[in-house]
Amino acid sequence: MLEVRNLSVSYGKHRALDGASLRVGKGEIVVILGANGAGKSTLLKAICGICEGHVAGDVNLESAQLVGEKPHKIVEAGIALVPEGRGVFGDLTVEENLTLGAYAERARDDEAGNLQRVLSLFPKLGERRKQTVRTMSGGEQQMVAIGRAMMSNPSILALDEPSLGLSPLLCKDLFESLRLVKQAGLGILLVEQNAKQSLLIADRGYLLENGNIVHEDDAKRLANDPAVQKAYLGGSGATTGAKRPAPAPMPKPGSPRPAAGPKPSDIAAAAMKSVGALARSAPAAKPAAPAPKPAPVTNGATPVPKPNAPNIADLVAKASAAASRRNGAAPTPRAPVPRPAAPHATGPAQPSIPDFKSSSDRLRAMIEDIEAAARRAETYKPRR
Ligand code: ATP
Repeated sequence: MLEVRNLSVSYGKHRALDGASLRVGKGEIVVILGANGAGKSTLLKAICGICEGHVAGDVNLESAQLVGEKPHKIVEAGIALVPEGRGVFGDLTVEENLTLGAYAERARDDEAGNLQRVLSLFPKLGERRKQTVRTMSGGEQQMVAIGRAMMSNPSILALDEPSLGLSPLLCKDLFESLRLVKQAGLGILLVEQNAKQSLLIADRGYLLENGNIVHEDDAKRLANDPAVQKAYLGGSGATTGAKRPAPAPMPKPGSPRPAAGPKPSDIAAAAMKSVGALARSAPAAKPAAPAPKPAPVTNGATPVPKPNAPNIADLVAKASAAASRRNGAAPTPRAPVPRPAAPHATGPAQPSIPDFKSSSDRLRAMIEDIEAAARRAETYKPRR
């Protein structure tokens, strides 16, 4: 169903992915295992059309060629990404987040059916429909992110490190949820560092090292492979170099802070990387929401509007306004952006589209704040 052939990605002179080939079938879970920096996220981003690097090769879904397509076209083709860090809108409710996922054309005809499917997979989301997502646990937020991706009615669900930051118990729930998603007939492409749990639910797996796929096998065989055990499962196989550093010993209570460890500038750089990525993706990630499609008219009957159905443009505006409040910025009054009339749209004017330029300005200001904090931290000397 999804066939990736000879996919390569370069960031300038750095080749982060080198001729990767893989496939994911219907109802199959395929896991990509690899050390930090191996190119896992790059692989997913290249498949989903959001990679900043130069991408070459083939990505075919049901024989449609997707390399070079815009991200929204790739969603329309049937691939949905749950990005690292989830990317949920914390100030919106569960229901509003899910509704935003139904933005794709392919999802709109059966939005109610998709919602039903998501709520039956994740009954907890049904119980919490009106809860603000920010107030939910990490595991629950991850379910919202997966549910939102499923609202686009995908045939392939791609997930980037979904278990990151979750407790072992929540991890177990998460992987159980993915098993249910698979049973619903979707193909799952899963990037994970939690090799143990992911190999338990996966059908097949690929090992990625320095941008190259070096091995492919059935998940059970991978889990029992001594090399994989040594590299990813903390075992004692002897055929490959261990990728994960041993965990640092816990400091004794009261002992001085060790000199080693991440420097403030490293922490700031990591924070800037994620904020910078957000800033870069802000305008592209939120395309202008088209006017909602008119409800189909059957047998000349008047279409019945869905009660309280949230409008996607309203939700995006609400998320943007909430972000302004959190950052202490007074919401900027914005002139409404004129929108082309939808072919058959009548009725009241649609709400204006949020001004994403001001969002990226705020993000840029945040980056500058982080840089300044890093400089202060570098020169900080504690008083004796
Ligand atoms: P991790 O598990 O730590 O997230 P990963 O396997 O997902 O790592 P990638 O994020 O794909 O690794 O990065 C692969 C390589 O490409 C790394 O060396 C990284 O520094 C580099 N890289 C990733 N994104 C960019 C970018 N936007 N510009 C330049 N180099 C990048």
